[in-house]
Amino acid sequence: MTEKLIGTTGVVELPDEQAMVQFGGSIARLIRDRLIITLQGDLGAGKTTLSRGILQGLGHSGAVKSPTYTLVEPYQLALGAVYHFDLYRLVDAEELEYMGFADYLADAQLCLIEWPEQGQGFLPMADIAIEINQPGAGRCVTLCANSAVGQQLISQLGVG
Ligand code: ADP
Ligand code: MG
Repeated sequence: MTEKLIGTTGVVELPDEQAMVQFGGSIARLIRDRLIITLQGDLGAGKTTLSRGILQGLGHSGAVKSPTYTLVEPYQLALGAVYHFDLYRLVDAEELEYMGFADYLADAQLCLIEWPEQGQGFLPMADIAIEINQPGAGRCVTLCANSAVGQQLISQLGVG
């Protein structure tokens, strides 16, 4: 789930917000199969920015709301149903059951999950676990594959 298993990893340095959004677009273009992507990093690391890049790369036009208060924001895109979660305000991981997380998961072509550590033990394994660090002004994005589908996508991305 949120822990990293041995698998393909990629690391990319992104100097600014625009690069982050573009990188999201690169990920989006490679999505073929059902996918769960988790995004970890401090507040302001860029999880929502990268999610926006992915959503816009999948054809969503317009703003991307941060689902901090609603926990989930649904999108219906060419790919199918996409759910963008932000579990920061989850009080108890069992709350996922009450919000019908399993139904979202069954329906989703893509799940983007910010703050997966808040749902630890109740979330399925991510195909790709993303961690964003802020070494300086820019961001360092580490991708870690936990499945064959995730592994393939990261190799196709061609990041170190
Ligand atoms: P999070 O969802 O992780 O809390 P947000 O995406 O809401 O973070 O905010 C990230 C902030 O960092 C925004 O102000 C954005 O402009 C900035 N940012 C995003 N990506 C980068 C980057 N690669 N380099 C520098 N700043 C970035
Ligand atoms: Mg966010």
